[in-house]
Amino acid sequence: MTQRNLTGVKLRPGFPARLDARTTSVTPARPALSPGQVPACRHTENVAHGVGLDSSAVRQSMVAKLAQQGMADATVLQAMGSIERHRFVDTALVNQAYEDTSLPIGLGQTISKPGVVCRMLELLRQGSNGRLGRVLEIGTGCGYQAALLSLLCQEVYSIERLRGLHEKARDNLRYLRLANVHLLFGDGMPGYAKGAPYAGIIAAAGGEAVPQAWIDQLAVGGRLVAPVSAGSSSAAKQVLLVIDKTPQGVRQSVMEGVFFVPLKSGIA
Ligand code: SAH
Repeated sequence: MTQRNLTGVKLRPGFPARLDARTTSVTPARPALSPGQVPACRHTENVAHGVGLDSSAVRQSMVAKLAQQGMADATVLQAMGSIERHRFVDTALVNQAYEDTSLPIGLGQTISKPGVVCRMLELLRQGSNGRLGRVLEIGTGCGYQAALLSLLCQEVYSIERLRGLHEKARDNLRYLRLANVHLLFGDGMPGYAKGAPYAGIIAAAGGEAVPQAWIDQLAVGGRLVAPVSAGSSSAAKQVLLVIDKTPQGVRQSVMEGVFFVPLKSGIA
């Protein structure tokens, strides 16, 4: 059963915590994990062959490579060392789960490469003093980044426009029992006003520009990290954009080039 709130976003009640359609106040079923704390694994039947029991060593080697590339935020690196990326990709791809590569997750979408995820989370955290409050993620995909965000933020609102992926993320995240992750099925283009203002907004899909609604829903002192097209032609490359909302106004910084799936309107 789904509920529809006033903005037309369909909410799936019951996982991971009941999200009341009329209010944003949610009582977590259990306290949020502290950064880097590894959630208890309830069952093991999803552990993929080929990575299996030694996945921790493979993951630590991925983290070591990220550190060598210049990633320096120990809290983000610790989170990336805790969340098992191989659980978020198809069985046929588990052997590539800890390589620095994007991988297909179905419906023409991809899980971003660990280096880019790490970089964006670092940028997001640099905008705050320590642990982030409420964060909005546009593009849940398979739920991997949402799991990482759950270790770095107080509350995570993650919205996905493709029902198949919204459901996949729900299945992927179930075993982690993350009480502070709220999965929403809907178009993230207008943001998600019910959870605003956000200390952070992070987009995993790139559009022509950052929708004004996202900036409006950012708290003063908050930071937005999103890929956007670098030019107007359809072949235009994307860059990472960082937007800080300060008491003096909005400040925008253009970072390095990136490659993300397109931000699209509507649900499917
Ligand atoms: N963070 C994800 C990456 C998923 S790829 C992960 O860890 O797997 C980006 C996702 O953004 C895709 O699933 C795509 O369907 C979704 N997306 C694109 N436009 C969107 C929109 N307007 N609202 C919500 N999700 C959107």
